[in-house]
Amino acid sequence: MREVITAEHAGFCFGVERAVRMAMDASEGDLPVYTLGPVVHNEEVLKTLSDKGVRVVTEEELSALPEGILIIRAHGISKALSEKLLSLPLHVQDATCPFVKKIHRIVAEHAALGEWIIIVGDPDHPEVRGIMGWAGEHVFTVNSEKEWDLMTIPLGQKYCIVSQTTFNDKKFKIIVENIIDKGYNVVTVNTICNATRDRQEEARALSERADVMIVIGDPASSNSQKLYSICKERCNHTYFIQTADDLHCEWYQDVKCVGITAGASTPKNIIQEVQTNVRKF
Ligand code: SF4
Repeated sequence: MREVITAEHAGFCFGVERAVRMAMDASEGDLPVYTLGPVVHNEEVLKTLSDKGVRVVTEEELSALPEGILIIRAHGISKALSEKLLSLPLHVQDATCPFVKKIHRIVAEHAALGEWIIIVGDPDHPEVRGIMGWAGEHVFTVNSEKEWDLMTIPLGQKYCIVSQTTFNDKKFKIIVENIIDKGYNVVTVNTICNATRDRQEEARALSERADVMIVIGDPASSNSQKLYSICKERCNHTYFIQTADDLHCEWYQDVKCVGITAGASTPKNIIQEVQTNVRKF
């Protein structure tokens, strides 16, 4: 009998759940509802919101929008953009995750003390771009050990290091050690959120035990991609899927234990469907 174990910390995290609920609730009213960028990296949820009339808009479109409700997604936005929104005829509902807001506060406070900011994370990710917008003039990003080795930033300056909330906990610690080893004067605040840390730790343990690992998420979801790489490092037979339709039963037909985990933007119904299919076929 095949054992199928689904991670306890899988699927919507608190921040994503809150943002999606805010958009759903807003769509029940009379005003048009916009979200600044997709509120979650999940096609199915985005389709449901779109069917309810919720429109995804870009920063460039904001100035031309008529009155309506604008939802800021969990990733948050820069200080400059939040100030710009005050001049527009939009009712802003801020779904920035409180854990991300906390990073905005940390970098703003440390920048005000004259420290330069290093964000460990992906510079193209909207969360990191938002954080950069609170970090003052002197802000750097580093996404890997390799990147850090190639970077040249001045010594003799005090730095504050924070992390993208969904960064790999182990990699963050290694990058910070490398920065300290080069003699930089730093204060480090590990801002990887608990939801991410729990999810990654559980995925790590599960992938060490399972013969096959299935990671459910959207390819555009950074935390899902990180879960995949954590599992793949420990379990050769790790597969990344978006829905149950992507499953191939030959992956797990003759194995004893299948582990399932999912990124923070994967709804429960998709996880349940995958779990049912893996058990059945
Ligand atoms: S992953 Fe963490 S920081 Fe990001 S939205 Fe979810 S709870 Fe908030």
